Amino acid sequence: MKTALALAAVGALHAAPAALFLPPLRPPGLAGRGDPGHVALTFDDGPNPLSTPHFLRALEVRGVRATFFLLGEQVARAPWLAGEIAAAGHEVAVHGWAHQCLLRHGPRRAYDDFARACDVIEDAAGYRPQWIRAPYGVFSTGSLVAARRLGLTPVLWTCWGFDWTSRATPESVLRTVFKDLNGGGTVLLHDSDHAAALGSWRATLSALGPLLDECGRRGLRVGPLADHAVARAG
Ligand SMILES: [Zn+2]
Repeated sequence: MKTALALAAVGALHAAPAALFLPPLRPPGLAGRGDPGHVALTFDDGPNPLSTPHFLRALEVRGVRATFFLLGEQVARAPWLAGEIAAAGHEVAVHGWAHQCLLRHGPRRAYDDFARACDVIEDAAGYRPQWIRAPYGVFSTGSLVAARRLGLTPVLWTCWGFDWTSRATPESVLRTVFKDLNGGGTVLLHDSDHAAALGSWRATLSALGPLLDECGRRGLRVGPLADHAVARAG
């Protein structure tokens, strides 16, 4: 059991959950809590030409819009896809340039990273992003200062699907999301396996329809952060 837990911890460190071990850097005000009748649907680590189009089609079928936190280097490789996300009415946001934890870097490095990502996203999508979610959910003081200088609002999540591991299944993603999801929550999922187990996005994609169904049963509207009336920190 101990070994399994240790392996889980190593796997967790690979992706977003680094934030788990750094609670002081996750002020609750950044969690993205908003309108109690609404759930914000967010996707990190795209765009990815292999996976993101599947999510765009699934969301189009359901008539649901979401927020996509994009990586600058991924946008530089497929600017057309960032453009498609925006053209479909979804919101584009900043997830940094190359999915690096900026904890050990100063404000200058964080500023340069975010600014570069912001510029390439703006060029591809046609508008300046409003939100930023640092890679791994880790905002250092320096990166918060950098975000403010760029006019970006930091936002994290209230629940996730733990969808980045090789063991994720549609059922595990749904179970994990609904363990913590209530009205006003912000859901973190991934439309790309850029910083995750290869192909893990397939479990997320299969979970998407049932997730939207369950939100509907609970009377919760689902949409992007722009429609979420997020309570701002500070
Ligand atoms: Zn990420």
